[in-house]
Amino acid sequence: MDLESLADRMSSRASKYDVSGDFPEEDFDDLRAAGLLGLMVPRRLGGGGASFAEYTDVAMRLGSGAGATALIFNMHASVTGALAHIPEELVRQFGAPESFAASRDRVLQAAAGGALYAVAMSERGIGSRLSKVRTSYERTDSGFRITGAKTFVSGAGHADAYLVAARDSTSEGPRISYFLVPSGSGVEVRPAWDALGMRATASHDLHLHAEVGEDALLGGIEGTALLLAQVMPQWLVASYAAVYVGVAKAVLRHGAEHLNERGLQRLPMVRARMGRADTQVAAAELVVRNAARLVTEDPGSPETNRWVWRAKLAAGDTAAEVAFSVLEAAGASAMRRGHPLERLYRDARCGALQPATSDVCADWLGACAMGDDPDEVARW
Ligand SMILES: Cc1cc2nc3c(=O)[nH]c(=O)nc-3n(C[C@H](O)[C@H](O)[C@H](O)COP(=O)(O)OP(=O)(O)OC[C@H]3O[C@@H](n4cnc5c(N)ncnc54)[C@H](O)[C@@H]3O)c2cc1C
Repeated sequence: MDLESLADRMSSRASKYDVSGDFPEEDFDDLRAAGLLGLMVPRRLGGGGASFAEYTDVAMRLGSGAGATALIFNMHASVTGALAHIPEELVRQFGAPESFAASRDRVLQAAAGGALYAVAMSERGIGSRLSKVRTSYERTDSGFRITGAKTFVSGAGHADAYLVAARDSTSEGPRISYFLVPSGSGVEVRPAWDALGMRATASHDLHLHAEVGEDALLGGIEGTALLLAQVMPQWLVASYAAVYVGVAKAVLRHGAEHLNERGLQRLPMVRARMGRADTQVAAAELVVRNAARLVTEDPGSPETNRWVWRAKLAAGDTAAEVAFSVLEAAGASAMRRGHPLERLYRDARCGALQPATSDVCADWLGACAMGDDPDEVARW
């Protein structure tokens, strides 16, 4: 099935999953059947071998079909993409064990075979501030014991494993490591997600009291979480950007449909709102695609990273602004439950709130614009 047909099928189911707040099972059946869970996995391991630019294109198309599904997919792509793209020299330089390559390949191969990964980073009271996570780990004879509680875990209860950020309980400073914790024993999902927007992400709470083996430690090295946020900011800061440009495109599509059906398309105010929205979305798409191209061609450079932060800001703000304006043009009938613009208005509101929030992006970029070091202040 091509991406357009897949996005259309997702779009036709989006309202149902939004109302129930259930995980979009049928969408993931389709994504799995299309081999998209292996999108970021290298070809030698049976995957699609996609670049960040190719991921961006896919996420944008899926986001225009069903934002919530595309967000869960983004979490999975962040885990597999970061693993697939992390420079091997860097990992070795930081002392990764010989077993690193084999355990990374196992995780990626499983994704190519249809395994789904979720991200369990955020916690109640601290949001996504990695340096402040309270979930902790300690060494055992066979690996690690991880204890704590996570929140906002998109796809909770449906993932095969969770990327968990946890602090070393024996370290004085913030020594934060990533673990890939398999679902099952010691991993309890507590239903807690009844949110304004992106309801079908099923972003429930996760309680951990898990024993994992040595190879659950990502990269085989402790204390890499904050480093990875600096070295590969695209996966933490801007991979959602493509999803929200997709959501903004859906607003234009459903807006035009509604306005034409209602015979409102000749009203000058309505046309002006659609014209502005069209230009805003086109501009955001260009910023996001340019950031993605730079990540692919020149990852990690200061100029690339600046575009990464611009992409998140442009996409988050644009989605919310065009959803607000097009709903106003469409009128009160479009705010009835079940109307696509009503759902998109709520979904689009989430973009600026996801980390890095629009305010944090703007602060980072403002520091840059004035010649300051934007990372002087700890962002995570
Ligand atoms: C739809 C959706 C899906 C999500 N899915 C996942 C998921 O799968 N996994 C996961 O781990 N998390 C997920 N999250 C959670 C998300 O990553 C954030 O952690 C969460 O939104 C933080 O919420 P918070 O209420 O603590 O707000 P915060 O992000 O803490 O923000 C509160 C306020 O503080 C400001 N602020 C925050 N940080 C800084 C800073 N460094 N400097 C200055 N100001 C700052 C913000 O701008 C905001 O005004 C999801 C969130 C949403 C909305």
